[in-house]
Amino acid sequence: MEFSVPQERKLVTELPGPASRALLERRRAAVSRGAGTLADIFMDHGAGAILVDVDGNQLIDLGCGIGVTTIGHADPSVAAAAAAQASKLTHTLFTVTPYENYVQVAEKLAELTPGDFEKRSVLVNSGAEAVENAVKIARKATGRRVILSLDHAFHGRTNLTMAMTYRPWPERAGMGPFPGDLYSVPSSYPFKDGLSGEAAAARTIDYIVTHIGASEVAAIFVEPIQGDGGIVIPAEGYFPALKAFCEEHGILFVADEIQAGIARTGAWYSIEHFGVVPDLVTSAKGIAGGFPLAAVTGRAEIMDAVQPGGIGGTFGGNPVSTAAALATLDLIEREGLIEEAKRVERAFAARIGDWAERFGIVGEVRGKGAMWGVELVVPGTRDPNPAALKAIIDHAAANGVIALDAGSWDSVLRFLPSVVISEALIDDAMSVIEVKLAELSA
Ligand SMILES: *Cc1c(COP(=O)(O)O)cnc(C)c1O
Repeated sequence: MEFSVPQERKLVTELPGPASRALLERRRAAVSRGAGTLADIFMDHGAGAILVDVDGNQLIDLGCGIGVTTIGHADPSVAAAAAAQASKLTHTLFTVTPYENYVQVAEKLAELTPGDFEKRSVLVNSGAEAVENAVKIARKATGRRVILSLDHAFHGRTNLTMAMTYRPWPERAGMGPFPGDLYSVPSSYPFKDGLSGEAAAARTIDYIVTHIGASEVAAIFVEPIQGDGGIVIPAEGYFPALKAFCEEHGILFVADEIQAGIARTGAWYSIEHFGVVPDLVTSAKGIAGGFPLAAVTGRAEIMDAVQPGGIGGTFGGNPVSTAAALATLDLIEREGLIEEAKRVERAFAARIGDWAERFGIVGEVRGKGAMWGVELVVPGTRDPNPAALKAIIDHAAANGVIALDAGSWDSVLRFLPSVVISEALIDDAMSVIEVKLAELSA
């Protein structure tokens, strides 16, 4: 692919530069401190895997926001589709008078999500809203109230989804009360628990049976690969065993694919790596090249269990967002971006696969496609090392590399680059990070 900005890191000022620092002053006076930022570098434009800041520095983006601009920044074909739609029709409210491209996105999702059965979708604005709607749909379809999520899960920042999110800080602290009938159950986290998939599933199932009661449960929500939880990839066999238990007890299996879905892991949906077909799937982040759009897709009889008017919302499936989504999904197919994600996986595996042997503060490196996590430990132990994570992220940002944090113990360095990132950029970014890894391991 060709990009309007050269795909290279280039620093022309210190970071943050003077223009960013001036904006930071204004930001502090006008924007809530609660909307905290990872790096105080204001961006102006971008292309591919490069962001250009307001001082003209070119940074390597290993975050894509948080896994949103999977196809690369400001793709011209998505921009053109959105612009054309914006001057044609920006709103009718689909539930007042419908329009075609909402239906087209739903048709496309039926084709791309796992499962060879009739499906329906509903479109909403954000990931959290998709999860909330999936909860409503699952409760309505099953007539049950209890919703389960996994330890270390992240499902959003609304009141309901905060309560389904594992860690208390910073998302949840002081924000209660929270709704009831939501439980977090033990998951599979091989680096932490050392359990096989079967053993981890047996632990999850035993917890459900002895603490909650399987017949009470409407649905279990899983991120097939946990994102904010620290790029946690469950042990082989975990999801199939859990799914078999769900089927036996009439519990819906919901794959929250908001972070790992839409080509990011080298598959349309990350649950495909585990050989399980979910009943409902949530999509969001990468679906529309940066425009706000989210979806719940699932078995027709479950999705249609809801009474007309039971789900919806003013801006859900906005025409500009649906036009951008159709262009994004088309681009992924046209440019073979699922194969590109596999290329990125091979490049990361080759470049950082030996970090645990080379650096004392690295406990494990794991990833799939363009979704990687580096578990940081106190050297010689498996104890989390959050101080190292902060030092590495700050060092990277100061040197023009945006990398993300993750993990219930704030100790997983997370990379969610665009799938169009070059090997040269991966190599350059990893060289920057290795300087700090070596220093902290010495
Ligand atoms: C980001 C995320 C959400 C919430 O999405 P928002 O668009 O921020 O509301 C939910 N689930 C997962 C797995 C996510 O990564």
